[in-house]
Amino acid sequence: MRRWRTLPEGTEAVGPPLGHGPLTALFAAGLDAGRLASAYLLAGPPGVGKRHFARWAVRLTQCAARKGTEPCGTCNPCRASLSGNDPCFVEVAFREEKGEHESMVEAARRFAAEALRAAAPGRRCFYLLPNIQDYSLALQNSLLKTLEEPPAGVTFFLTADRPEQVLETIVSRCQEFQFLPLAHADLIRVLEARGFPSRQAGELALLSAGRVDLALKFATEPYRRLLAWFRELDAQPAPDFLVAADEATVLAEDLEGEEGAAGQDRPKLAELAALHLRHFFASSLELAREHYLAFHILNLASEELLGAREALAGSGHPMLCLEQYFRVAFERRAQILRFSHTALNV
Ligand SMILES: [Zn+2]
Repeated sequence: MRRWRTLPEGTEAVGPPLGHGPLTALFAAGLDAGRLASAYLLAGPPGVGKRHFARWAVRLTQCAARKGTEPCGTCNPCRASLSGNDPCFVEVAFREEKGEHESMVEAARRFAAEALRAAAPGRRCFYLLPNIQDYSLALQNSLLKTLEEPPAGVTFFLTADRPEQVLETIVSRCQEFQFLPLAHADLIRVLEARGFPSRQAGELALLSAGRVDLALKFATEPYRRLLAWFRELDAQPAPDFLVAADEATVLAEDLEGEEGAAGQDRPKLAELAALHLRHFFASSLELAREHYLAFHILNLASEELLGAREALAGSGHPMLCLEQYFRVAFERRAQILRFSHTALNV
C-alpha cells in the first residue's frame, strides 16, 4: 500500500488556475461567507486544471493573509503547501487493482484521524481524490459512506472527467463545480507560463481544444515529428497517397496508441488519424472562415474524415483505409483553398 503526498508541479502558480474565473470567485466568496463544504466535486474534461484548483482552494482556505482569490504565498501554511509538505493535505492516488482501491479508502480514513491528532491538532485536513469515475461500484459505495458521515474537520475534493459515471448519491453529497475546456487565449497563456514560445503555444492551443494535457502531449517528440510531416504532405502539389500511408505507418510506431492495446498497429494508426484530423481543422479553420462555401466543405470534410477514421479502426486493410483517408483530406483541403482564394479575390 502506498500513500501519496502532494508535490505541486514546479510550474504551478500560487494563485488560482487560469481560465476559471467564475469558479474561483465562487469558491472564494464561499470562504468569505464562512462556508466550507465537507466535499466538493470538480467535474469536467481532463487537462483543464481541476487538480490545480483543488490545491489552490486548500491553499486559499489555509492562508493567513489571503486577498480575494489570491493566497499570500508567504505565510507558513502557504509555504508548506508550495513545498509539497503540507501535513494537512493528502492527494490519494488509486491503483488499477481493485484490492488496492479498497485499501486506499481505508488508508485515507485512518490518515484523516492520524493527521488531525498528531500533525495538526485543531486544523482542518484536506483530501484530493482524483478520477473517481474510475472507481468500482463497491469503492464508490465505500466513498459514499465516508461522505454520508464525514469525519469532523475534513474536507474532500473529488475530481471526475465523466461525472455521469459517478453515483448520483455521491454527487448529491458534494458541492459541484463544473469545469469547461479552457478558452483558446487562456490555453495559450497557460502554455506560455510553462515556457512555450508564443507561436508554438498558439499552434498547440489550436490542436488541443482547451486541454492542457493534450497540448503537452502534442509538444512531445513523436507528435511533433508527425505534425511536421503532415505539413510537408499538405505542401506537396500531387502527393502519392499510398506512399504517404506507408510513411505514416512507420511514423505511427512511436505513438502511444490506445491504452490496453499495446503492440497493436491499428490503435496507433487510429491515434495518427485522430491527430491528423486535429491538424486538418487547425490548419483549415482560418482559411474556411473567409467564405461560406469553404466553411460548408470543412463541415462536410469533418464527417467524411471521422467516417474514414472509424473505417480504419475496423478494417482488415488499414493501409488502403489510410490511403483513402489522406486522399479525402487532401481533396477537401484543395477545395477549401480554392474557395477561400475566390473569397479573397472578390
Ligand atoms: Zn498565505
